[in-house]
Amino acid sequence: MRPETQPDIEPFLQTVARASRSLLLLDYDGTLAPFRKERDQALPYPGVAPVLQEIVRNGRTRVVIISGRDASETAPLLGLDPSPEIWGLHGSQRLKPDGTVKTPQLHESTLDALSAADNWLGYQQLRHMAEFKTGSIAIHWRDLGEREAAEIRGRVLLGWIHLAQEAGLDLLEFDGGVEIRASAPDKGDAVRSLLSEMSANTPAAYLGDDNTDERAFRAINGRGLSVLVRPQWRQTAARLWLKPPEELLDFLARWLKACQALDASGSEAVAAVNR
Ligand SMILES: [Mg+2]
Repeated sequence: MRPETQPDIEPFLQTVARASRSLLLLDYDGTLAPFRKERDQALPYPGVAPVLQEIVRNGRTRVVIISGRDASETAPLLGLDPSPEIWGLHGSQRLKPDGTVKTPQLHESTLDALSAADNWLGYQQLRHMAEFKTGSIAIHWRDLGEREAAEIRGRVLLGWIHLAQEAGLDLLEFDGGVEIRASAPDKGDAVRSLLSEMSANTPAAYLGDDNTDERAFRAINGRGLSVLVRPQWRQTAARLWLKPPEELLDFLARWLKACQALDASGSEAVAAVNR
């Protein structure tokens, strides 16, 4: 996709308006919320939470957040009530409606390799840049200059590439960092799994910003709308590009309007039957 060949989204939104149920899949950091060095303060762009709240309450859209974060971190930042479904750790972890988190079991060899990856960071004196999650360690260098970031990336990968190869772990490069993680479902697997739970003609869209979202874009292409949400365009498998926050807000507002449109005609139909 090139920015100049963007599709018209109106026909897609009309399918949302006609469908009794739709699927809206959303990455969190960089997509719904601008990046913050203080990751626990990465709140959504102004206006995003209220419109998502309306979409959730409207009840005709299954809203699912699929994030690289631990699932339990995202709900408090979003602040929606009821909270939408949240899949964490790039889709390998699922936050259930009762608030409990279903996380995959890790093999001992994986834990040993992650411990070695942690030791490597200690040896390189980089532990202060690490985020420790279940089954993974991520290093973040987003707030550093280009040269310093490249130097840190080199030092991390010097140890981690070998460890990942030996233990069968995945290395996942994302905007502003790299993550070593247990070989587990990724965002593409999460999208395929969610689509398989819905009927084949359910309108579906996936919105994301990062390299890790590319697998999700490829998984939904041919079946739904893939949307890159990013201030600058880059080469991507996504079919549509939205610049946050204005174009993102406009998209979500039009999605909500599409859902409300059928509400109106649906209630009219009920009224006609009852007459
Ligand atoms: Mg992101």
